[in-house]
Amino acid sequence: MKLTIIGTGYVGLVTGACFAEVGHQVVCVDNDVSKVELLRSGGIPIYEPGLEELVRKNTADGRLRFTSSTAEGVEKSEVVFIAVATPPQDDGSVDLSFIEKVAREIAAALTNYKIVVDKSTVPVKTGEKVAETIKRYCKARVDFDVVSNPEFLREGFAVEDLMKPDRIVIGVRSQRPVPAMKNVYAPFNAPIIVTDINSAELIKHASNSFLALKISYINAISVLCEATGANVQEVAHGMGMDERIGRRFLNASLGFGGSCFPKDLSAFVKIAEQEGCDFALLKEVQKINASQMDRFVKKIVDTLWVLKDKTIGVLGLAFKQNTDDIRMSPAIELCQRLQKEGAILRVHDPKAMEKASAVLKNVIFVKDMNELADGCDALVVATEWEEFKKLDLERARQALSHPILFDGRNLFDPAEMERLGFIYKSIGR
Ligand code: NAD
Repeated sequence: MKLTIIGTGYVGLVTGACFAEVGHQVVCVDNDVSKVELLRSGGIPIYEPGLEELVRKNTADGRLRFTSSTAEGVEKSEVVFIAVATPPQDDGSVDLSFIEKVAREIAAALTNYKIVVDKSTVPVKTGEKVAETIKRYCKARVDFDVVSNPEFLREGFAVEDLMKPDRIVIGVRSQRPVPAMKNVYAPFNAPIIVTDINSAELIKHASNSFLALKISYINAISVLCEATGANVQEVAHGMGMDERIGRRFLNASLGFGGSCFPKDLSAFVKIAEQEGCDFALLKEVQKINASQMDRFVKKIVDTLWVLKDKTIGVLGLAFKQNTDDIRMSPAIELCQRLQKEGAILRVHDPKAMEKASAVLKNVIFVKDMNELADGCDALVVATEWEEFKKLDLERARQALSHPILFDGRNLFDPAEMERLGFIYKSIGR
């Protein structure tokens, strides 16, 4: 099929590459001209495992193209996906100006029937607004359908998630766009749920809020574990063996972050408020998340006492492993909090140092994780990169002025750390 994706970011680029990989003809549109030029010249603006190969292969095979012209993309396709950002505003509500602008641009380019699919995460009832906007700005009377098709990929596993989705959600107003939408997704062999647009939009916010709730739940348990001498990982293991609960998203930590969970949570609270409901449960999820960071910083301050002029090595800057994305990263917040206390920071991340250099000032970026501890008073793990488990702990212990390691992601085994001579503080154990 001929498909266009407007917005070539984390979602748009991976979706475009995966659609091309299964045989569709894809045009990816972005109004960031430098991004389009980079992609055209073979560069990749983001890190995502497996993405570069997919983009290279499908560009070379002529199934994936890049342009900065929405009109060109709309003209060439049967189905037009919107995958632009929906960032949070100061009051927690969603800034829908990118969506509205794209709706106007699509309207201006419509000359025959198209299916306009919203893949961005949007508040319930946005589909109605998009349809109204396209109708209002369309020059001629042209038929179109608006569809909601929320995206559930996880950064760091985006290609895998796109190629093998748990389910595809398609929200429609009429049955007309359903066969085409089913054709788009037929190669992925995933269950397809066809529902109304408002339900589809709610499914996305309800899912993300539930996952955030699950994380805050285990984080709240971790506080109880610390108070009682229990081990949160043992508790999570025991809970997770119950199929009704499941082990995933039960990892205690210094809190969740990223461009989705915090913004989708506050958006959902705001949406509920606008509909006259007080979603107090989700407000508590937010509170627990914020307190995890406070508690972690306190743990560091309680141990090191005065941070001023102490050198701390921070492992991890990305908001999670396998990505270079630092948007609302707890690791970045932690660095800023430690700097505020007067600490000198040496930092390392396998993929996110370039992006972090735009927001973190006066820190020393260390390329080799094994050299991070040199001249440090303590180490902190802030992101759960798998490769941090291979840190040369013996070398780190000798390089540190005192062998202190704060683990905000529970990567190491407390008994082993003690055996190696570390003062080791993790979460809920
Ligand atoms: P992003 O910021 O990485 O990408 C958005 C892209 O849209 C940017 O490249 C920007 O230049 C482009 N853009 C903005 N206005 C445009 C316009 N008028 N025309 C063409 N391009 C335009 O954002 P993202 O992380 O890919 O997220 C996109 C949406 O998907 C958001 O609603 C987000 O909540 C949702 N989502 C994100 C993830 C994730 O893990 N990142 C997962 C599921 C859903």
